[in-house]
Amino acid sequence: MFGRSARRSNNTKYYEILGVPQNASQDELKKAYKKAAMKNHPDKGGDPEKFKELAQAYEVLSDPEKRDLYDQYGEDALKEGMGGGGSSHSPFDIFEQIFGGGGAFGGGSSRVRRQRRGDDVVHTLKVTLDDLYNGTSKRLSLSRNALCPKCRGTGSKSGVSTKCHGCHGSGAKIMTRQIGLGMIQQMQIACSDCRGSGEIISNKDKCPQCKASKITQEKKVLEVHVEKGMQHGQKIVFQGQADEAPDTVTGDIVFVLQLKEHPKFKRKFDDLYVEHTLSLTEALCGFQFALTHLDGRQLLIKSNPGEVVKPDQYKAVNDEGMPHYQRPFMKGRLFIHFNVEFPDSSFLSPDQCRILEATLAPRTGTPLTAMELDECEETTLHDVNIEEEMRRKHQQHQNEAYDEDDDDDDGAPRVQCAQQ
Ligand SMILES: [Zn+2]
Ligand SMILES: [Zn+2]
Repeated sequence: MFGRSARRSNNTKYYEILGVPQNASQDELKKAYKKAAMKNHPDKGGDPEKFKELAQAYEVLSDPEKRDLYDQYGEDALKEGMGGGGSSHSPFDIFEQIFGGGGAFGGGSSRVRRQRRGDDVVHTLKVTLDDLYNGTSKRLSLSRNALCPKCRGTGSKSGVSTKCHGCHGSGAKIMTRQIGLGMIQQMQIACSDCRGSGEIISNKDKCPQCKASKITQEKKVLEVHVEKGMQHGQKIVFQGQADEAPDTVTGDIVFVLQLKEHPKFKRKFDDLYVEHTLSLTEALCGFQFALTHLDGRQLLIKSNPGEVVKPDQYKAVNDEGMPHYQRPFMKGRLFIHFNVEFPDSSFLSPDQCRILEATLAPRTGTPLTAMELDECEETTLHDVNIEEEMRRKHQQHQNEAYDEDDDDDDGAPRVQCAQQ
């Protein structure tokens, strides 16, 4: 910590951000900030990051003490001085200090932002595909911080609070101390008189319910409406329902839908997919079966007369997919992916084979002559699990790729790569 303070970090950046020389007067700084902040204000479509930088630079350089520290030791010294947090004010506060309370654009939006915004509370909400197809509502009980109802969040019986003298109501004190030859460290610490709250409530006047903390715990039941057609990852927002705190705009409670996998149906956007396995007889001679939908209806799925279904073939039923979000009478399609299960080996006797052959189309290709057979080499066909094979190949390939990377680190030439 001591060593770091002594290191000289960049101490010209703030001047560059404002576009002024290092010996600029307070007047010049103010003018430069005004001009740049107007141009970059987010309400006027400016870049919020740039706006923040400007405020930060101006906040430091407009304060002679901070400017002095910055000129000598750079940004790092300030960061340590302010407890690691960098700027202590919102860029909008600084903007309004310069342009006056009403805001430069006629009040309104900037004033709202003056208040600190509380954090949003995010929960995941597990839902099934049935929930998203049919819509549902779930009652959830949550506990949260609420402003004390007895004192209406003032912490006192009278509702009156006195500004703390120790910190002038800011809740913090700046401590300066010598930490070595010519080195000064500034620290911001919570005011001990008011424990950082910036105000004093006399013992007699303390609210008996919250003991002047202004906050009580509250149980809240939320009814979350999951609407038909909502998506995995979609957010349901309860505005301003998160933890309450004094002088703070309450954040939102946000539920993020998390879809549990369905054993039968898969969803892609507004379409549904289902797998169905046919026997070879069904594939060739026709089929019908009942499919239970997500709302419990039985759909009769059947082939057209004379239709043959091939392995890996898809067929679709219109308007039996997912309902569209907010237009639930419109629905996507239901796709059925057919597998065909072939019978096992030697299920036919040679006689049955001949009968089947007579029914099916004759074998293709001319039979080989004895001479041709003589010239062929005998082979054996083995069973393989092709997925397993592909996985192994892929693994092997990856290992080789890692080896190559190692070679690169050693500076060896990339021979392998050229061959690929
Ligand atoms: Zn204080
Ligand atoms: Zn109270």
